[in-house]
Amino acid sequence: MPLLLGAIADDFTGATDLCNMLVRNGMRTVQLIGVPRGDLELDEVDAITIALKSRTVPAKEAVALSLEALEWLQRQRARQVFFKYCSTFDSTPEGNIGPVGDALADRVDAAIAIACPAFPETGRTIYMGHLFVGDRLLSETHMAHHPLTPMTDPDLVRVLGRQTPRKVGLVAWPSVRRGAAFIRDRLTALRHEGFRWAIVDCLEDADLLAIGEAVADHPLVTGGSGVAMGLPANFRRQGLLPERGAEAAALPPVPGPALVLAGSCSAATLGQIEAFREHRPARRLDPLALAKGEEVREVIAWAREHLPTGPVLIYASAPPEEVRRVQERLGRDRAGAVVEEAMAAIARELVASGVRRLVVAGGETSGAVVKALAIEGLAIGPQIDPGVPATVTIGRGPRLALALKSGNFGRRDFFLRALEAMP
Ligand code: ADP
Repeated sequence: MPLLLGAIADDFTGATDLCNMLVRNGMRTVQLIGVPRGDLELDEVDAITIALKSRTVPAKEAVALSLEALEWLQRQRARQVFFKYCSTFDSTPEGNIGPVGDALADRVDAAIAIACPAFPETGRTIYMGHLFVGDRLLSETHMAHHPLTPMTDPDLVRVLGRQTPRKVGLVAWPSVRRGAAFIRDRLTALRHEGFRWAIVDCLEDADLLAIGEAVADHPLVTGGSGVAMGLPANFRRQGLLPERGAEAAALPPVPGPALVLAGSCSAATLGQIEAFREHRPARRLDPLALAKGEEVREVIAWAREHLPTGPVLIYASAPPEEVRRVQERLGRDRAGAVVEEAMAAIARELVASGVRRLVVAGGETSGAVVKALAIEGLAIGPQIDPGVPATVTIGRGPRLALALKSGNFGRRDFFLRALEAMP
């Protein structure tokens, strides 16, 4: 059966977020880490998301990577293509949302593409083309000071307009609130006026569903994971997607010893570490010792000793003043790098000696672990906490159950609960 939805995400955790949304709405979904090389054995799925690292690379590179991903998805005969970016529209005047979207639109012959980063569940709404985070305009949030993609203009028509030579229009809320048919009419009118892009307003989940329905026959849809909420229903209406219920999130069982690795220093992760320590052994890594080439062997030996009796935690996470002290000694990049290298080596060694279930806290830390384990893809299972699904690896190498969470996600008891929720 051809693939229903082929998605390209501009970063790793964004891809997971999208997959989680699709699974929750009844599509069996797989996340691939980069464009697959060689032949990859895939079970039949409804949606595939290729996770790229293209958000902040030069626009030309982002376009090339995205087109390569598109070609692979087209070979799987994807019926609709989705370009996923962040719900805060993270980008610069040079790109990469505009250039990548234009290139994809040309390849799939899209007359017009919507751009809708809204995700009301997480406070991201769009009104008259202006993006809000909670009750603030985007430009009045921490995103104005982002080190790589500062967002100082909340008007998405203008923001996207700087990234593309094509005309960017708006489907404003008075049309959106009247439902799919009105949105479709407005998109048709914009297309006739020569617009190739349309920012679409959205205040609540009902809007997402209407927008999704309105773009059922668009070859390309772009947005945050929110707007993907309405897409599975299109395929069901067309008789292409059966009602799967919980089966969409079914994962094969993965027995074996369990390890938790934490490299995030977020408040949420620090609390989760405290909670875990009350139940099971935990060991902290000292970045200064790691920088001297010490500690990794010793910690691996310690973990091997405790793993037979249950999960163990290895963490580098520390409160802000401690992180600052380490960064003053090592520099910020080197501090991050020694910790990530240590986590990578620990994951590799302990998987080699039998660990099969892993929880990883931290976006960069997860990226380092996934790379070290040469993971090609993940089948996405049930949601553990908002935005974080249980997953099982696919492709070469031993089958692993993984829960990868970016720093601030998850409730206090996340680590043990994740291990229970994993197959
Ligand atoms: P988050 O998702 O919370 O941003 P990340 O894993 O993306 O977490 O980023 C945390 C960064 O902090 C990583 O590069 C990690 O290696 C680094 N780090 C972890 N512990 C320490 C520490 N004690 N001192 C300095 N840097 C650290």
